[in-house]
Amino acid sequence: MNYQCQHCGQFIMGKAYRVTSEEAGVRLLDMTVCYYCFVDAQRLGLHTEEILARESPATARYQQSFT
Ligand SMILES: [Zn+2]
Repeated sequence: MNYQCQHCGQFIMGKAYRVTSEEAGVRLLDMTVCYYCFVDAQRLGLHTEEILARESPATARYQQSFT
């Protein structure tokens, strides 16, 4: 799974993180970010979560046969 950080523009090689910010039920922010921006976001007190790779064995097999 390849992600690009929506904050600094770097391609994310390892784990990707999601930064969200909500106020009174309104989503103000929803970004996929790299580790460094994730740490920054945490420092700013934003809501952060790790994005888990959703690669099922079936998907992996499909990709292999078509590359
Ligand atoms: Zn970043």
